[in-house]
Amino acid sequence: MSTAMQGSNRVSPRSAGRVAARGHLAALPDPVSDGLRQLLRDDFVASDEACRQHANDWWPITKVWASEGEVASIPAAIARPGSADEVRSVLDLCRQHGVPVVTSGGRSGVCGQAVPVLGGVVLETTRLNRLLEVDETSMCATVEPGIFGHKLEADLRRHGYTLGHYPQSIEISTVGGWIACRSAGQLSNKYGKIEDMVLGFDVALARPEEQGDVISFPAIPATAAGPDLRRAFLGSEGVLGVITQATLAISHAPESSDGLALTFNNFESGLDAMRRASQAGVSPAAMRLYDPDETARHFGASDCAAMICVAEGSSDEVAAQLKDLRRIALGAEQGDPRWVAHWLETRNDVSALDIAIERGLVVDTIEVAALWRDVASTYGAIRQAILEIPGAMMASAHSSHAYSSGACLYFTFVGVGDAGSDLDAKDRFYASAWSAAMEAAHAAGATISHHHGIGIVRLNAFNTYTSQAERDMLRALKRELDPMNILNPGKIGSPEDEERSSPNWPPISD
Ligand SMILES: Cc1cc2nc3c(=O)[nH]c(=O)nc-3n(C[C@H](O)[C@H](O)[C@H](O)COP(=O)(O)OP(=O)(O)OC[C@H]3O[C@@H](n4cnc5c(N)ncnc54)[C@H](O)[C@@H]3O)c2cc1C
Repeated sequence: MSTAMQGSNRVSPRSAGRVAARGHLAALPDPVSDGLRQLLRDDFVASDEACRQHANDWWPITKVWASEGEVASIPAAIARPGSADEVRSVLDLCRQHGVPVVTSGGRSGVCGQAVPVLGGVVLETTRLNRLLEVDETSMCATVEPGIFGHKLEADLRRHGYTLGHYPQSIEISTVGGWIACRSAGQLSNKYGKIEDMVLGFDVALARPEEQGDVISFPAIPATAAGPDLRRAFLGSEGVLGVITQATLAISHAPESSDGLALTFNNFESGLDAMRRASQAGVSPAAMRLYDPDETARHFGASDCAAMICVAEGSSDEVAAQLKDLRRIALGAEQGDPRWVAHWLETRNDVSALDIAIERGLVVDTIEVAALWRDVASTYGAIRQAILEIPGAMMASAHSSHAYSSGACLYFTFVGVGDAGSDLDAKDRFYASAWSAAMEAAHAAGATISHHHGIGIVRLNAFNTYTSQAERDMLRALKRELDPMNILNPGKIGSPEDEERSSPNWPPISD
């Protein structure tokens, strides 16, 4: 970190927020604030209110803290560039003075990715929100990174197309955030994850212009022009550069859709049916299997595992897919057909989170993925690991994304502080549950994340369960592309020896 970072602007971590790192920058050097004000005018904001708002994203533990008036980590200012050139100018100014820059889209990340642990500038992309082009010949759309999901989808529908990417957060998340976190939508079985849709993009880098401060990966259907370095930016969580434009593959808006509800005696037999369907090429847009706890919670049925399927396409395709599913899921019972409509209506409702937090509970979700041979054992191992933590009250799961080789498991857990209801006790329960779940996932052969990413909450797990060589590779890329380490410092890829730039989390050792 540069000399500016070591100056008198530092404040103690607690006054800047619960996870603020040592070295946190509370105020910008004058040349940076003056320069940004001149560049962006009203789109440079440094009011206390705006800075406190940008101290958190949707990381659920920050909502617990907010219930007691505490925040994660307060930035010094917010910059809202309105063009790719302005993004480059913000990066250039901050680089010259060693000021941290944390890119944010909708701040809907659930792992603390957009929390500015070292303070500095939050670079918000939401003014970059246009659909630039629909190429009907090549079936792709070029967009700016700060466009929100529902707006993009509505714009594409006007042209007769769909992106087919429907994360539960579609109204509060952006294309840039999707790419930077490797998002998965609810209809990923048909349309794929965001990384399957990205054909090309531009990235602004925190390097001097003369060394090359932009990487442009042109949109192409496939390439063998050397290693696929573009993929290094998928899941890069704002640590390598700022995505300023992206071209995404689109599909024809579906003619029709229909659904099907089934029940299985238990979760494991439902998983087996999902596997057989995926391997037979029967992939309805949504195929979701709930364990008995979640079946009871969502649909009011007991002692069974419910499966909800939604097929999209021509009416013939839809009818054929649902018929094939019924055949493959031999032995399954017909579920209540109203469950499909219920899921469609309530699928983006997360009000239960706030209600639980108001009741003093700690709640979060954890998504992992494993090969089919390990899916059932991963389910059992993670559930048990969480339930063994003192204070744990509930751990349940559903499977929401299936592949021919394996599937995603999405857990929800609830608990209370191990020794009372103060924030420190809640933090201890929360960190222990996460640590146990990550250890169990790794031991069971699963990846530690399927689509939420690393952020702060998985940083320890990432550093523990990825190989040294993989982390060295990421750090080497970061050193080259962000030599001053100003981009989202304290997250994945930060220099290991910079102890003072690590977030003040977890509160207990893993
Ligand atoms: C209620 C709820 C439901 C959710 N459901 C889903 C779901 O179904 N599927 C799913 O995948 N996720 C889901 N999420 C998680 C979240 O929406 C995704 O991780 C999403 O991709 C984040 O996008 P964002 O625009 O909000 O990014 P932010 O939270 O603002 O940023 C996330 C990370 O991306 C980086 N970033 C953002 N924009 C750029 C850019 N232009 N260039 C470089 N880096 C950038 C940031 O620096 C940060 O590290 C959900 C979250 C919530 C709160």
